[in-house]
Amino acid sequence: MAKQSVALLGLGTMGSGMAANLLKAGFPLAVWNRSRAKAEAFAAQGARVAATPADAARGANVVVSMLADDAASRAVWLGADGALAAAEEGAVLVEASTVTPTWIAELEAAARARGLDFLDAPVTGSRAQAACGQLSFLVGGPSEALEEVRPVLEAMSKEILSLGPVGSGAKLKLINNFLCGVQVASLAEGIAWIERSGLDREQALAFLKSGAPGSPLLGNLSARMTSRDYAVNFLLKLMSKDLLYAGKAAAESGLELTTAANARMLFEQAVAQGYGDEDMSAVIEPVRAARKE
Ligand code: NAP
Repeated sequence: MAKQSVALLGLGTMGSGMAANLLKAGFPLAVWNRSRAKAEAFAAQGARVAATPADAARGANVVVSMLADDAASRAVWLGADGALAAAEEGAVLVEASTVTPTWIAELEAAARARGLDFLDAPVTGSRAQAACGQLSFLVGGPSEALEEVRPVLEAMSKEILSLGPVGSGAKLKLINNFLCGVQVASLAEGIAWIERSGLDREQALAFLKSGAPGSPLLGNLSARMTSRDYAVNFLLKLMSKDLLYAGKAAAESGLELTTAANARMLFEQAVAQGYGDEDMSAVIEPVRAARKE
């Protein structure tokens, strides 16, 4: 059977790795990115560089977007030359960005109004997992639509979870990033405290990593914080966005995420001090610099 034709909208840290894996798996691919230079880089590998999201969506069986936030997603799907209006009859639309369930519901309604199948399918895994096709997709939406796009998602992932109705992916993704963001913020304070405490930092961290607080995140992030290596795996400003979205989504269930709000204060403080476009591990820098009398 011929491979489905795919359009990928958004070629940032995550989208660029996803595009590379779709090409490697042999899918005919159209790519679009707001800053065109990132898309041009894929022409040599056989991708068609589209002029607009609509241009990318034309002729595609599957349209996937991987964009920063709700505003970016709205602009690319519904804005001028947006992908939705141009999508082909029978195409399946997949929103892989980390966005709010509220926006997902609106986008699904717009897709339904056009008679198109829609899935929300945010991912876990970061730059490295996107690059080597080892993401996890958290999928909300009808299983028939998922089965249609499964080969496309498989080319980019190690696992695909089918979670329930549209919006389920967005919800679990925000819960996931809520737990990650709070842990990163507390790790920043913990390491800053260790550094001022007179303890041997490496010995203290080795103990903590192998003890009850240890986690994959703590291992990776503590190494970046101690080496001050802020090369971007996950943009700091995007974690602030995710904590904001998590708070909003939980509020819809009548929950107040007080720890998310406090963690977000640290990320916003870092954004205000110019660290927004660094890796999220840079959240430690304002904490290191601050001194409470
Ligand atoms: P990124 O590197 O910042 O890329 C963001 C993408 O969105 C770029 O293609 C950017 O275009 C585009 N964009 C931003 N605003 C736009 C607008 N108004 N109109 C059109 N395009 C716009 O982010 P990323 O790390 O790839 O993350 C993408 C999504 O995946 C985010 O929702 C993020 O939260 C989520 N995510 C990230 C990770 C991670 O570890 N990095 C892991 C899981 C999920 P330009 O190139 O023109 O700026």
